[in-house]
Amino acid sequence: MCLLKKSEREGNFRMKFLDAHLHLQDKRFQGMAQELIAAAGTAGVARQICCATSEKDWGQVVELAARHSEVLPMLGVHPWWAHKVQPGWRERYLEMLTMTGAGVGEIGLCSLVEPDPSAQEKVFAAQLAVAAELNRPVAVHCVRRWGRMLEVLADFYPQEAGLMIHAFGASPEIMDRLLALGAMLSFSGRLADPRNEKMRRLFQEAPLERILLESDAPDMYCGPLVGDTSGKKSNSEPVMTAKLYRFAADLKNMDLERFAAQVWENGQIFTH
Ligand SMILES: [Zn+2]
Repeated sequence: MCLLKKSEREGNFRMKFLDAHLHLQDKRFQGMAQELIAAAGTAGVARQICCATSEKDWGQVVELAARHSEVLPMLGVHPWWAHKVQPGWRERYLEMLTMTGAGVGEIGLCSLVEPDPSAQEKVFAAQLAVAAELNRPVAVHCVRRWGRMLEVLADFYPQEAGLMIHAFGASPEIMDRLLALGAMLSFSGRLADPRNEKMRRLFQEAPLERILLESDAPDMYCGPLVGDTSGKKSNSEPVMTAKLYRFAADLKNMDLERFAAQVWENGQIFTH
């Protein structure tokens, strides 16, 4: 008799995990997409939402999605590259989204790299407008610009199409305001970092039906998930999402299978 539950046995995954945010097209993953997607699939990560970051990689993300049914594309201009948009980008963006049916992301506001805050805000609002026009789900990046973020989002949300805040980590008050706008909150491997006690509390308080999980591969520190507690920045890989689900289910004090099923359900709004 096997003491493990059926779903926990090696190689017998009835559970499906969604990686809500990653960048398979990143240079650091060059030539590795097939291998990374296969490894993730073996661990149960059956769907991955792959976000572009500038017009330069829209084509790559669309191609990855065309080749791999597990990959769902989102196209956008990341706040770090908003000051570099080329004339006519909005028309080309609209055309690309219309042609491919892709979602909108990764877009947002960020104080880490902000050569031109007004360009950042203009490009962000323009992409939200396109998403609203085409009724597409959106993946948002926000670092230390929450005040303005909430104001801009309030011009567009709540609405029927999905909104996710990627790599979420902010105050409970901000969380409440985002939830009121209908946002899903996507938590990353940073949850497992021993230094992030506040984030873990936030995750425990977040409503179960509004949670997503992501690797943000190849970014994001997730050493503790794979037994590395050196605190040094390590690259994440999509396969780590499976470990993140286990860690997160424990935090929610839930059976992994029930937890994973609910998060999968939460992600449906972004996956068709
Ligand atoms: Zn990202």
